[in-house]
Amino acid sequence: MAPWNNQAFPKEVGPLATGLFSDDAVSEVRGRSSILEVVSDYVNLKKTGKNHKGLCPFHTEKTPSFMVNEEKQIFHCFGCGEGGDVFTFLMKVGHFSFPQALEELAKRYGVRIKPRELSPHQKKETARREILYPINQIALEYFHDLLMRRREGEQARKYLAQRGLSKDLLVEYQLGYSLDLWNGLVQHLQEKKVDLELARELGLILPRKREGWYDVFRGRIIFPICDVHRRTVGFGGRILGEGQPKYLNSPESIIYHKGEVLYGLHEAKQSISEKESVLLVEGYFDLLTLHQFGFRNSVATSGTALTPQHIRILKRYANTMVTLFDADQAGIQAALRCLPLFLEEGIWAKTILLPQGEDPDTYLRKGHLEDFKGKVAEAVSLFDFFFDHLMKTHDVRSIEGRVKVAEEGVTLLRRIPEGVRRNVYSKTLAERVGLQESVLHDMLRAPSKGPPPREERRAREETRGSWPRSEEMIVRLMVHRPEIIPKVSETGVLEEFESSVLKQMAEGLIGLHEKGGQTLAEGLDHFEEDVRRQLSAFAIQESGLEEGTHQKVLEDCIQKIRERRAKNVRGELLRRIKDAERRQGKKELEALLLERQELARRESGFRKEKDA
Ligand SMILES: [Zn+2]
Repeated sequence: MAPWNNQAFPKEVGPLATGLFSDDAVSEVRGRSSILEVVSDYVNLKKTGKNHKGLCPFHTEKTPSFMVNEEKQIFHCFGCGEGGDVFTFLMKVGHFSFPQALEELAKRYGVRIKPRELSPHQKKETARREILYPINQIALEYFHDLLMRRREGEQARKYLAQRGLSKDLLVEYQLGYSLDLWNGLVQHLQEKKVDLELARELGLILPRKREGWYDVFRGRIIFPICDVHRRTVGFGGRILGEGQPKYLNSPESIIYHKGEVLYGLHEAKQSISEKESVLLVEGYFDLLTLHQFGFRNSVATSGTALTPQHIRILKRYANTMVTLFDADQAGIQAALRCLPLFLEEGIWAKTILLPQGEDPDTYLRKGHLEDFKGKVAEAVSLFDFFFDHLMKTHDVRSIEGRVKVAEEGVTLLRRIPEGVRRNVYSKTLAERVGLQESVLHDMLRAPSKGPPPREERRAREETRGSWPRSEEMIVRLMVHRPEIIPKVSETGVLEEFESSVLKQMAEGLIGLHEKGGQTLAEGLDHFEEDVRRQLSAFAIQESGLEEGTHQKVLEDCIQKIRERRAKNVRGELLRRIKDAERRQGKKELEALLLERQELARRESGFRKEKDA
C-alpha cells in the first residue's frame, strides 16, 4: 500500500524525480547530505535544544521561527509554514527543479549519479526532443539575422523602433523577422540539411498540395518562445502591416506545451524572485514594453489563457501575482476567468486597471510611467474587482439581483480554502449585498451545485485548528515513535478519523513504514505540499511525552476516537428511531432497535478491552 503515490505527488517534482534518476541515487544523495550544512549557506543558524534556529529565508521576519532538525534531516518554519527535507529546501531557496537540486547536492557531496535507464519508448521520445530543439534554434537564428542585419529586415526594424523597443531588447529576446515569401525558411532548412518532416512537426512549415513545402510564418515579426532553460520551444509571429491573422503561434508539440510555458520567464525570473511579485500580461508587445520600461518582473501567456500549471510555475518565484489585461470587456472577462484558478492555488491575486482603450504597451509609450508605477503599487485585489463587477452587472436594489450576487459570490467563496480570508470575504460579501452573514454561511455549507470537490481540495479546506485532538496526537506519535505504526495500522482506527488530512498523513506514514522503515525525510517529497508542511512541523516539535508513556497515550486516543464515533452513530440511530416512531413505521422501528442493541453490545466490548 502506498497511498501517496497516485494522488499526492507534487506535479512539478514527481515525474522528473522518478523518471530521470533511480531511487537509489536519490536516497544516496539524501543520505550523504547534511541539511544543516546546506541551510547554513543561506541562514545563520543557532543551536537550541535538539534543533537549530534562524531567520526564515522564505518570509520576512525579525524573530527566528525557522527550525532545522539535524537528526531527522528536516526543516520547518513556524512563521510561514514552509517545511521539508534538504531537496525541498534547495528547490525553494534556489528555485531549482528537483533534478537540479539533486545534481547540486550530488556534486557537493561527491556522489556520482547516473541517469536511470530509459525504456525504449522514453529513449525514442528523448531522442526526438533532442533533435527538435536544434531545428528551432536554426529557425531562430535565421529569423534573427534577417531582422538585425539584412536589408530585407529594414521595414521590420523601423516598425519595432517606432514601437519603442531598443536594439538591446531585440537582441536579448532574439526577436526576428520572416520574409514575405513562401519558401524563405524552407530553403534555409534545406541548406542546413534539416529533416523537413520534423520542421513540420514544429509547425514551422507545411506541405504544399502537390509536392514540396511552404513557410508558415511569412512577413511577420517573430517572437521566439523559450522555456526556463532557454531552449526555443515555439514561435509567435505578428504580421508586419495589414493582414490576417494578426498573430500566429506555433502549434503544440512534444517540446511545446502552451499551458506550461510563459513568455519572458527566463529573462524575468531573477527580478520576480527579488521583487517577490510578478506582473502577468497577455501579449508579446505588452511584455516587451514592460521590460523596456524596467518592469522586468513580468511574464506573458502565449497563445493560451492562464492555466493552473502557469500559476504553479510562478509560485516557485513569487506569491504576489498581478494581472494586467486590456481595459475592454474581453480583458475584464479574462481577469475574472483567472480568479478561481488563483484561489485554488492559494494565491491572493491583484489586478491593475488601465483607462478604457489602453493596454500596457500603449499606456507606457504615451509617457505614463509614473502613473503606471502608482497603479502597480496600488493594484486592487482581484476578488474586490470581481465583486465590483458583480454589483455592476446585477441590479442590487432588487431582491433577485441581490440573491444573484450572493449566489455567484458564494460559488467563488467555496474555492477559497477555509480560514481567515474566506471569513473576511464572506463578511464583505454579506455587507455589500445587505444580507446577514449567517445566511451566507448557510449557503456556503449547502451542497454545491457544481461537481463534487476533489478529495485533495476537500482536504485543504479543513482548518488546522479544528483537528480532533486524539487524531492529531496519533499522527504526532507516529512521527516521533515509528515503532507504534504497525499497531495503529492493525487497529483500523484510521477508518474512523474525521480529518481527511490527518488520515492522509497517517496513511502516508504507514506506507513509508511498510516500505522498509523509510525515514520521514526520505518520504516527505512524496506528500502533497500541505501535508508535507504539517508533517515537518510535527517532526520539529517534540511530542512532549515522557519516556514510556506513549503506548498508553496511543490507547487512550484510540479509545476516545471510538467513543466519539459510537456517540455519533448512536445519535444518528436515535434520530432515525424518533423518525420511525413518528411515522409509525413498525418494521423499521424494530430493525433500528435491534441495531441499537448491537451497538450497545459492541460499545461495552471495547470498554472492557480498555479496562482489561
Ligand atoms: Zn518562514
